[in-house]
Amino acid sequence: MAVRKIITTENPILRQRAKRVHRFDPSLQRLVSDMFETMHVANGVGLAAPQIAQSIRVFVAAYEDQQVAIFNPEIVKAEGEERGTEGCLSIPGYIGENIRRATKILVKGQDVRGKQIRIPAEGWFARILQHEIDHLDGILFIDRLDRPEDLHEVTEEEVEEMATKDKQRQ
Ligand code: ZN
Repeated sequence: MAVRKIITTENPILRQRAKRVHRFDPSLQRLVSDMFETMHVANGVGLAAPQIAQSIRVFVAAYEDQQVAIFNPEIVKAEGEERGTEGCLSIPGYIGENIRRATKILVKGQDVRGKQIRIPAEGWFARILQHEIDHLDGILFIDRLDRPEDLHEVTEEEVEEMATKDKQRQ
């Protein structure tokens, strides 16, 4: 496994629509392992391939004891709406508040071998998955702010001190 470099907003790859994965060859297992390792080292809870400069439709996420890697994800059901705080490993130094996301979603996609999977998610886990799927369409949380004053600067120390899971970065 290897830690990959996480790119930030000045890199245009983050703004591209990532390509679907059609060939599920064994090299994808290594990509997924690297993505999990990169996410853990950066203390993140989610990481999408474009964040490591790979413009393909896959992301990884970790929530409690659940770890998921979803290729070609699609939200097939969404219910409710809630507001919450988000950070992003590609936007260091900032968090956004009052970001609206669906409360409950069902994500359809494929695992690392190309097998169809369906992942139901609620609350914070649902928020992580919606944030990551946005990355695959070139969308960042800053695009979803209702008001500019909902964007706040934070220091790296403050980010590390944020013990609650709902303030971790994706
Ligand atoms: Zn992000």
